[in-house]
Amino acid sequence: MSLLELRDLHITYRSERGAVPAVRGVDLSIEPGETVGLAGESGCGKSTIAGAVLRLLPRETDIGGSILLDGEDVMAMKPGRLRAVRWTSAAIVFQGALHSLNPVRRVGDQIDEAILLHGTESARAARRRTEALLDRVGIPASRARSFPHQLSGGQRQRVLIALALACEPKLLIADEPTTALDVMVQAQVLELLAELQRDRGLAMLFITHDLSVLTSTCQRLAVMYAGRIVEDGPSQDVFADPQHPYSAALARAFPTIGDPTSRLNPSGLRGDPPNPAELPGGCPFHPRCDRAIDACSTIDVALRPIGTQRAAACVHVPEVVTP
Ligand code: ADP
Ligand code: MG
Repeated sequence: MSLLELRDLHITYRSERGAVPAVRGVDLSIEPGETVGLAGESGCGKSTIAGAVLRLLPRETDIGGSILLDGEDVMAMKPGRLRAVRWTSAAIVFQGALHSLNPVRRVGDQIDEAILLHGTESARAARRRTEALLDRVGIPASRARSFPHQLSGGQRQRVLIALALACEPKLLIADEPTTALDVMVQAQVLELLAELQRDRGLAMLFITHDLSVLTSTCQRLAVMYAGRIVEDGPSQDVFADPQHPYSAALARAFPTIGDPTSRLNPSGLRGDPPNPAELPGGCPFHPRCDRAIDACSTIDVALRPIGTQRAAACVHVPEVVTP
């Protein structure tokens, strides 16, 4: 059984200016211990998916399709069950979460609290676990007594990872966990996540706009554009030989790793992703696509299988006709 299974997931925000269909039919599954990367520029719907898995989206949101976590329907969970599942089944490290630690409480106390809230341990046992967790993420146990402002950005991000691991989740969702960090610290945090995956069999959904980061960290890669997955496959294959022109554009951004401007504007890719409330007809990528043909402005092809492990949603991928 998959640890996480999204089936035909649709997520629409109801805003004052009308409906925003941020996620439009996503199928994605993660096996126990597997690391899956979700790539795409800002606004493609990545964080919306992350939030939906633990029902952290605003009330004014319509969700269709299904989300199964460890076989259990997340949409049907009662509040008590949902609280238990958060942290223990899946935990999230958020984008820009460097500011989400409580500034007036010592970091060790904040991790203790998470352990005590969800576990059955004594305060003393919780502290021992907190110190072990800090050690695991490369922070001296004595730092448990520090306040967040006394730590560097990289240390704070590691504290957040320790916090997310406090209840030994099976799945860690990391939403742009390194975007705010400099390249050196980013590499250290990525190495830490890779170790956790190796040593503890932690499954991970790793979200970023930076394909190069994902290729080194993830076994599989899903590329998102305008609320849909446009390519899916083993990360090395997708990266080395992308089949969707959008994945190809993201992959071309690779040689300039570390240059934040090139990462935000993949080379050769003009403009920005469309506003989900005003999608162009046909393939939503066609206005930016250097391989677009006439048909692309009228038809939006679904994911087409390429061999057994890959798929891409592009008119240039030959359609497989099964007898
Ligand atoms: P990503 O994480 O890939 O950058 P998001 O999931 O944050 O993308 O956003 C997807 C789309 O949904 C964007 O167009 C964004 O503006 C829109 N969106 C996100 N949150 C809300 C909200 N609360 N209300 C209305 N629209 C939203
Ligand atoms: Mg995001």
